[in-house]
Amino acid sequence: MANVTKPTFKEQYGNFINGEFIPPVKGEYFDNVSPIDGKVFTKAARSSEEDVNLALDAAHQAFPGWSKTSATDRSNMLLKIAQIMEDNFEYLATLETIDNGKPIRESRAADIPYCIDHFRYFAGVIRADEGTVSEHDKDTVSMVLHEPVGVVGEIIPWNFPLLMLTWKIAPALAAGCTAVVKPAEQTPTSVMCLMELIADVLPKGVLNIVTGFGNETGQALATSDRVAKLSFTGSTDTGRKVLHNAAENVIPVTMELGGKSPNIFLPSVADKDDEFFDKAIEGALMFALNQGEICTSPSRILVHEDIADVFVEKMKKRLKEVKTGNPLDPETMIGSQVSKAQFEKILSYIKIGKEEGATVLAGGEAGNYEGEISDGYYIQPTVLKGDNKMRVFQEEIFGPVVSLTTFSSTEEAIEIANDTSYGLGAGVWSRDAHELYQVPRAIQAGRVWVNQYHTYPAHAPFGGVKESGFGRENHKIALDHYRVVKNMLISYDKSPVGLF
Ligand code: NAD
Repeated sequence: MANVTKPTFKEQYGNFINGEFIPPVKGEYFDNVSPIDGKVFTKAARSSEEDVNLALDAAHQAFPGWSKTSATDRSNMLLKIAQIMEDNFEYLATLETIDNGKPIRESRAADIPYCIDHFRYFAGVIRADEGTVSEHDKDTVSMVLHEPVGVVGEIIPWNFPLLMLTWKIAPALAAGCTAVVKPAEQTPTSVMCLMELIADVLPKGVLNIVTGFGNETGQALATSDRVAKLSFTGSTDTGRKVLHNAAENVIPVTMELGGKSPNIFLPSVADKDDEFFDKAIEGALMFALNQGEICTSPSRILVHEDIADVFVEKMKKRLKEVKTGNPLDPETMIGSQVSKAQFEKILSYIKIGKEEGATVLAGGEAGNYEGEISDGYYIQPTVLKGDNKMRVFQEEIFGPVVSLTTFSSTEEAIEIANDTSYGLGAGVWSRDAHELYQVPRAIQAGRVWVNQYHTYPAHAPFGGVKESGFGRENHKIALDHYRVVKNMLISYDKSPVGLF
């Protein structure tokens, strides 16, 4: 397990409010368990409504000043955050793995580099993004101006603690908003450790973090009438509640919710046993990336019946080569599930699949290891074969479990792909140029990967349709969610209109 130095954690972390770390008002903390070994490694503040209000006070106080800073100043601060992350790359990658259980090779290759790039991207686009001035008619000028929406409330999940934080705060701060963020209770620590590193970069109160439970801290933030916009990433069930709260306060929301993404393998994939076929198989195995704890996880494999046998054989062979176990080992490709609750939920779905009559083609059990990780939460990558009406094809499992079915025509593949309440991601694999355009166009999803899967560049808009939510993150259009448009119509005509 070379190259990994375990960081030292404080006994407990307070909230980050008004540029300082302060204990929660009620003095309560909760355990933060590392899923790698099931052991408590620190504690986080269990925040109440009072703490959320303190954070909102700070954000409101900071807003008038922050909203008037120049785009150049805001951009420079985001660049500084990116630089600090780059300077502390190994530390942050290790934290993320200890907090979440994801393989260190993934934190190094994806989480931290994407965070850095997203901060740099929004530092850049905010300077390129100008309002517009146009002549309405010969005497009237129209100015379209963007103004920050105000104090925003941002609620994030546990699967990419630092990246989800970044997706929320990079555009919000670039747009001139101040923010109160609530990390997930399963993974509060890496976010607080990042705050320690960047505490002095932003003016006091611009960014505030309160940790705690969903039905306490999250609810206090989501129901507050002092929030001008809510951005939520999490499950569809919680999203519905947050949406009701936003309706009460008549404020805009961005909803990034669950998914059950289809990964479609058309017949030409197996035309040759070549590099492309290997790439497609790797694309199928993406269901287990981040232990399947990704909203866009390609958790349904749809493979043409003519190639199903050869495809499954090749997939099973490749799966055997995947190294699972301690995520701090740089060789590990699949680490531990985020929590005991998630571990148990996934196992219960595997059981449901078996009871529904699905065939277990691979895995199907917990991963048992000896030694220091024996109490961690590990699950074998699992392939279930069945049909799209089964619960394991329709419900989000959020684990390294894929449900595989076959189709006999492209039309049937599209029908199966769209036969779900979700519409977040999808994958299409083929050597046929016609299919590579027509099939993605027919799929109900916000993102379709074509001959690739699981890439998240800062300049590609991301979000869902149907019960996967609405609004887009990443890409410069994300700025629109954090700003309101003001139009000024200016008359240069001295003569009266003549109506009165
Ligand atoms: P979750 O909905 O349980 O929790 C998400 C966040 O909401 C947490 O911070 C939680 O504390 C908070 N929360 C819970 N109840 C709340 C309430 N009543 N009011 C306000 N906040 C509340 O989801 P999770 O289990 O942490 O995350 C997994 C889910 O997130 C999956 O469904 C996954 O698909 C989804 N997700 C979606 C995306 C996306 O971009 N679409 C990205 C990552 C995860």
